[in-house]
Amino acid sequence: MRILIVGGGIGGLTLAAALRLKGIHAEVVERAAAWAPVGAGIVLGLNAMKVLGRIGLAGAVARRGLEVGAARVTDARGRTLTALNLRSLPNDAGRAYALHRAALHEALLTGVDPASIRLNTTLKAIEQDASRVAVQFSDGARGEFDAVIGADGIRSVTRWLTFGESPLYYSGYTCWRFVARGEFKNADTWEMWGRGRRFGIVPLGDGRVYCFTTLNAPQNDSTQRNISLQDFRKLFAGFEGPAPELLASLESADQLLWNDLEEVWLDTWVKGRVALLGDAAHAMTPNMGQGAAMAIEDAFVLAEELAGTADVPATLQRYEARRRERVDFVQTRSRRFGVVAQWESAPACALRNFLARLTPDSVGRKAIEQLANAEI
Ligand SMILES: Cc1cc2nc3c(=O)[nH]c(=O)nc-3n(C[C@H](O)[C@H](O)[C@H](O)COP(=O)(O)OP(=O)(O)OC[C@H]3O[C@@H](n4cnc5c(N)ncnc54)[C@H](O)[C@@H]3O)c2cc1C
Repeated sequence: MRILIVGGGIGGLTLAAALRLKGIHAEVVERAAAWAPVGAGIVLGLNAMKVLGRIGLAGAVARRGLEVGAARVTDARGRTLTALNLRSLPNDAGRAYALHRAALHEALLTGVDPASIRLNTTLKAIEQDASRVAVQFSDGARGEFDAVIGADGIRSVTRWLTFGESPLYYSGYTCWRFVARGEFKNADTWEMWGRGRRFGIVPLGDGRVYCFTTLNAPQNDSTQRNISLQDFRKLFAGFEGPAPELLASLESADQLLWNDLEEVWLDTWVKGRVALLGDAAHAMTPNMGQGAAMAIEDAFVLAEELAGTADVPATLQRYEARRRERVDFVQTRSRRFGVVAQWESAPACALRNFLARLTPDSVGRKAIEQLANAEI
């Protein structure tokens, strides 16, 4: 079986590692010229860690991260609306970890044969017939594969070459992320809800804290893209708790990683011998912290389906059939959650916070356990 994975990100590397365990060699092409320590932090939910455990990578992630304590949602003043201690869940639900994205990448690479990865390489053309996929790479090389998997993120070239133009759906809010210096006395994550904006705090455990902020804004707005540190601090000055100290620790606007939050919805992720996974297939808003988890689950299921198959197109169809309902559910939930969390009017926000405070912890606990314990 000759398999090409386009994109050496979270989904692509997980797939390469999962296939390797099944004795299937896959070639990975990655557009970046070098693995740079880019990005901010990430939380790998219980379900993601469980899958990584099944392919022997959970330890490598856990060693580089911090086990999340309670997941707290607060108002802008830092008063708790809901809190769920993830460490109090039964052991079979698993554990969640927070870590820097560069550390996650490093952990995933421990499961992949370095010789199988070609950096600084992308796709120029794909052509398929009933028996194979012919590919032309950006360095002029050509190749033939039984299957090509597009794991090349939200702006996937594999998607474009296979399905043509497909729109990105803007959520209505934009986002900045940064990693600040700071020690926390516990490993609790905070998501502080303001009016039309949020401030998230995730301790990474190594003297660093990952922060994310959201703001209702027009799409691709140059004011947000080129924001000064002073204006950024002003936008989030209404947040209390640990937020002022974290904002004060910033030294330059260059530390801010900005992007609009967009989604991808496709009627299908598979065409013949080409399949998409992760953000290339179904980029989602990050409100449930599940985008990477879904990419990891996709990779696991796809590797299971590809092992021992002769009929690649049927296998890829089975992969989509196994994944579709769960991914659609998480993507839709995440979008709806974001709509409410981004409410702007004062009475609506007061009502939202009041209702959130009244909601028993058991509701959040049940939802998380269901997500973690579902068969994938
Ligand atoms: C603000 C924010 C916060 C988030 N927080 C969380 C979280 O806490 N938990 C969580 O589970 N998810 C989170 N997510 C979602 C998560 O980041 C994505 O869902 C995840 O990275 C998707 O993985 P992927 O492998 O599909 O794509 P990516 O991680 O984007 O990887 C794609 C890879 O393909 C490469 N590539 C791109 N184009 C090409 C090309 N043409 N040729 C070759 N290579 C190419 C890229 O360089 C990259 O290495 C968050 C997202 C955002 C925006």
